[in-house]
This record gives sequence, structure tokens and C-alpha cells, in this order.
Amino acid sequence: MRTSASHVADAVVVGGGTVGGWCAYFLRRSGLDRVVLLERRTLGEGASSRAAGVVRTQGGTPWAVQLGEWSRTFYLRQHDELGIDSGFIRQGYVLPCFTAADVAAARERMAMQQSLGLEIRWLEPGQLDALNPTLAPGLTLGGTYCAEDGFITPPRNVTAYAVALAVSGVEVRERVAFTGLVTDSDVVTGVNTSAGPIAAPLVVLTGGPELAQVAGLAGIRVPTGGVRHQVAVTQPHPDLARERVPMVFDLSAGLYWRPEEGGLLFGMSNPDEPPGEAACVDEPYLALMRERLAELVPVTAGLGLRKIWAATIDYTPDHLPIIGPAITGDRTLTGATVASAGGAGMMWGPAVARAAADVALAKTSAVVDVTELGLDRFDAAGNSRLGTDPIALPFPEHAPQPAGRLTLS
Ligand SMILES: Cc1cc2nc3c(=O)[nH]c(=O)nc-3n(C[C@H](O)[C@H](O)[C@H](O)COP(=O)(O)OP(=O)(O)OC[C@H]3O[C@@H](n4cnc5c(N)ncnc54)[C@H](O)[C@@H]3O)c2cc1C
Repeated sequence: MRTSASHVADAVVVGGGTVGGWCAYFLRRSGLDRVVLLERRTLGEGASSRAAGVVRTQGGTPWAVQLGEWSRTFYLRQHDELGIDSGFIRQGYVLPCFTAADVAAARERMAMQQSLGLEIRWLEPGQLDALNPTLAPGLTLGGTYCAEDGFITPPRNVTAYAVALAVSGVEVRERVAFTGLVTDSDVVTGVNTSAGPIAAPLVVLTGGPELAQVAGLAGIRVPTGGVRHQVAVTQPHPDLARERVPMVFDLSAGLYWRPEEGGLLFGMSNPDEPPGEAACVDEPYLALMRERLAELVPVTAGLGLRKIWAATIDYTPDHLPIIGPAITGDRTLTGATVASAGGAGMMWGPAVARAAADVALAKTSAVVDVTELGLDRFDAAGNSRLGTDPIALPFPEHAPQPAGRLTLS
């Protein structure tokens, strides 16, 4: 057991959220002896402990499907690997369609998802209503359903990677901030931190909603941001018992829900809200979402709320993850890798973490083809050359402007 902080490491990972936490664990498991994880606050204190926990494999792109499926199977095997798990519950997830255009898009997506091996099926309107007796009947034109999708308990996931880090021997340094990279020409040789420098040939930069600032400390432009996302949980009701309520994503409104403690947990982002740190609950927007929820799940109309929270969610302009080498100007930095789950860190986080560890070690990953997922897909204004993932929350779809940036306090 190490008793003092290392000044030399084989790899340093910045950020103790689910992406950085699992990445440090995977690097250690890949055989690196000295892996240091830097977290400027405490493990999970960013987005990762505040999420809704939804794990959806029904992605809008092959990358999303593969990352979701890898993460789902990781959650299923965690207990055998670690003796602890993130609390994954197989609940089943419905994406209902309300227009003919929704149906056409859903059927096309389903063909892509099935071609990648997902067990997903089409539900006719009557079948969808029968599967989901809490939904107001006759509203949909059918939808896609994946019985394997589910949810984790985000604070338990933080506990799970904290345990994984401890038992695997990663050196976790909480309340230590990354302050910059040390380089020799374009080769990374270490990091500077609030507690002094650490020499290391490999560095993985994460940061969730603060990734742009973390990378900015090293002169790397990453066009990601953070924006308010809010979640509420209704009081319990017998109609909302877990066996009666599949998870549902109403894509048209950007509203999703799942069972929680005998009630419904529902979450949403306001697409018109400018990026920035979530300071408080947006009561008027919450009221709008409650109206939409009550239209779709009438029993919720009369229910009080037992929990509400707002937190800052990370996003990328194309709602896709970032996994690739760090770039400053037009130069690639050897030894530095950037990783973001693009606001889907519960459903993609472990897979993004594994892929980032692979890229750091070998430039490539068997988890997903990362060729297109690097920073070089963004132009100078932060616009992506890739199409936006269509199955995502309605986050802002543009790179954050400087005025909307978060501050590192
Ligand atoms: C309300 C809410 C609900 C959500 N629901 C879902 C969901 O249902 N499903 C889903 O898939 N995703 C969901 N998400 C998104 C998911 O939580 C994030 O994508 C994920 O947690 C991001 O993980 P991360 O490790 O990249 O970032 P974080 O968890 O934010 O971790 C980044 C860490 O970096 C640290 N850091 C920052 N600067 C420095 C520095 N200079 N030095 C050292 N450390 C630093 C921060 O303190 C932080 O702990 C939700 C998010 C929110 C806010």
C-alpha cells in the first residue's frame, strides 16, 4: 500500500466522475502499475452522482448502440468482477411514436439496432398500451421496445467505482486539481496539479460539464458545455409499481421517466435554455413538463413530488461522445487523450472509459470504432461534421459561447 502521494505515474486520469473513475480502473486492470486519479472535489461530486441513471441501448447511431450495449453488459458482470455493482435493474424501455414521421424514423432506427444484435421489437399501439397500463390509452402510433434496457442507481455507481479503484490499487487524490499539462515539444511528460507536478507519459482528461475548462488549462479546445437538467420523483402510487411501468422516452418533448421508490422519476432539459451552470430548479419549466407527463400518465396529475433536483449535465454539440487524442491548434499531443460521454454517462460511461483507456494505451479500441469520435471532427467554431444523434435529450446543439461557460470555483 502506498502511503505518500506519487510524483511519478504510468498514467494520470483527470476527473473522478464515472468516466474518469472507470477509466483509471481499466488502465490499472490493463497492467499499468501506477495510475493516479485526480479529482478537484470528491469522487462523483460532478454530474455522476446526480444523474437519473437511465441505461438505454436503443441509440440513434451505431456508436450509441455499441457504447450502450457494452456498458449494459459491464453493469451486469460487475458483481462477479468486483463484488459490488452499480445497481442495474432490467426494466424495459419504450420509445413511443406520436406521428407518422416518428414511426418511419423509429422503424429505420430499429433496423439499424437489430443489425447490431439488439433485441428490440416493434409494439403496435394496442400492444404498447397493454405493456404500459399507466399510459393514457390510444395516444400513440406504436413504438420500439427493448426489454434489456434498464437503470442504475447513480450514487451506487460512484460507490462501485470507488471500490474498484481501491481494490485495484489506483491512487485516488481527492481535492487535488489538475492545473495543466507538462509537455516536451508535442509529447506529454506529466501534469501540474494544485499539489505539485506528477511525471507521467499518459494523461486522460475528463471533466463532464467542466471538460472544456479542464482541457482549456492545457490549451486544448473542446467544444463541450454544461446546461441545467432537472429531475423529479413523484410520491408513490400503487399504479406506479415497478412491474407496471416500463421506462419511457417521449422524444418529442424531451421527457423521460422510470419507476423509482413506488413513484415515477422523470427528467428533462429545456432546449431553449442557454448553457451554464444549473443554479436552481426552473419551476415554470418543471410545471410544463408535469403537464406533459400528466397528459401521458394521468395518474401523476394528482401526485405530489417527493424529490426535485437540478444539476449541470454535460453535452457535446452533436450529442455524441468524444474519445480521442488531445489536439492543440493543429498539433496532436502524444500521450494525452480526451473523453466525454456527451450527457449519456450512465448509459455510455463505462464503455467510453474503457475505449479512452484503450486509445491511451493503443490508439484504438475494440469497444467501438473511435476513428470518427475524436476532436478533429469539430471545426474552429465547434461544429461537428457528424450528424447529431437523434435519440438524445434536447440539449443545446451548438458549442457553448464564452459567456455561457462555467466557472471553476
Ligand atoms: C440531472 C442529471 C441527470 C442525468 N441523467 C442521466 C441518465 O439518466 N442517463 C445517462 O446516461 N446520463 C445522465 N446524465 C449525464 C451523466 O450524469 C453524465 O454524462 C456523466 O455523469 C458524466 O460523467 P463524467 O465523469 O464525464 O463527468 P462528472 O461526473 O461531472 O465528473 C467530472 C469530474 O471532474 C472533476 N474536475 C473538474 N475540473 C477538474 C480539475 N481541474 N482537476 C480535477 N478534477 C476536476 C469534477 O469535480 C468532477 O467530479 C445526467 C446528468 C444530470 C446532471
